[in-house]
Amino acid sequence: MNQFENALAQLDEANNVAPFGDEFIERMKSLDRHIEVSIPVHMDDGREKIFTGFRSQHNNARGPYKGGIRFHPQVDLAEIKALSFLMTWKTAIINVPFGGGKGGIIVDPKTLSETELELLSQGYVQKMYPLFGPEYDVPAPDVNTNEKIMGYMLNEYEKIRGEKAPATFTGKAITRGGSEGRTEATGFGGGVIVREFLAKNMLLGLEDRKATVAIQGFGNVATYFAESMVEQGIVIIALSDSSAAIYNEGGIDLNLANKHKKETGSLKDCPHAKDISHEELLELPADILVPSALENAFTEKNAMRIQAKIIVEMANGPTTREAEAIFEEKGIVVIPDILANSGGVAASYFEWYQNIHSLRWGKEDVLKKLDELMVAAFNDVLTLKERYTTTFRNAAYILAAERIKSALK
Ligand code: NAD
Repeated sequence: MNQFENALAQLDEANNVAPFGDEFIERMKSLDRHIEVSIPVHMDDGREKIFTGFRSQHNNARGPYKGGIRFHPQVDLAEIKALSFLMTWKTAIINVPFGGGKGGIIVDPKTLSETELELLSQGYVQKMYPLFGPEYDVPAPDVNTNEKIMGYMLNEYEKIRGEKAPATFTGKAITRGGSEGRTEATGFGGGVIVREFLAKNMLLGLEDRKATVAIQGFGNVATYFAESMVEQGIVIIALSDSSAAIYNEGGIDLNLANKHKKETGSLKDCPHAKDISHEELLELPADILVPSALENAFTEKNAMRIQAKIIVEMANGPTTREAEAIFEEKGIVVIPDILANSGGVAASYFEWYQNIHSLRWGKEDVLKKLDELMVAAFNDVLTLKERYTTTFRNAAYILAAERIKSALK
């Protein structure tokens, strides 16, 4: 299954639990629009090179299309379609007035000079600008893109339009109208979900000990998620990045791990922890397991060996359908990506809102508002999970379907 087929299969499964109606399913399985463009860039050596870019607009029943733009050599149509589809559901679950979109360029940005990167970002906007706008389609950073690239894109957009329009892009630098709290938002939001889950005593066997967590992919999201775990007294027993995985049964000191990663660029040989393999990390008997790197961390190949009680999907699409079926059989609870990592798009909504209303909120204010949205989403999903005696993922789809259907009507 490619990623888009995997996402559609998730929808089918939820539809089996609470039928949404054939017309709605058909509508959701088709994209409103999908665009592929060629972007010529004058490279530093004087040659012209053509790059391929995509924008997928899945659905805007609830508000402007919303979703990131990723720069990656393996970007393809199925992936961008799947991610724009997931954004429609995610924005509905967290209940912000957006639809779903996603974009990308086939490129390894590490191979480009700064000038080439700027020209490529501008070229993407030159081809896509009629599709963008604060009330129409609002892109953001994603894998390998950041506030600097959003700045390049916003500059080009405003130049073409001849007007200031900061709400067209989110994930901007604070000096360009970015929001306080956006960097922390996704990891912080995942922490709120874990807090609510534990507060409902849904993790059994914790009577006389602290909960433990293993986190795969110590990047932006995992850094703030891990901070939240420490604040909640949850013991981080393992962490990984692309180059290493580390383990300490008694708990990893987050400050030491951060310092070591900063100094050496990797978690490898971190003091007070031993190096283990990436596979071993996923198979540890931690209470909570957190994929926070890339897609397909769990497949039918390793699902049988997973020992965690809860999986919190901070990455997008880390679990294949086959793996999820095995988790269900084993009684492992999966908190799905469309709920767990929705804090990022919620903070993007706050940024868009502040730009439109010329406001500036402080970080505490943003995180407080985010906390409220995450708690409401968790409780709404939980209510449906209990009503239908089903999984968190199915319940999340059912909640979003109710909201999208009512907007369509
Ligand atoms: P990031 O690039 O900052 O971090 C990713 C981390 O994963 C890096 O430390 C990298 O070394 C590590 N990694 C890569 N391959 C690995 C592997 N095989 N094993 C272990 N570690 C590996 O990215 P991020 O912004 O933290 O995003 C992480 C995930 O969260 C992605 O799936 C992304 O789509 C999703 N997500 C991010 C946001 C956001 O706001 N940044 C929002 C929603 C979802």
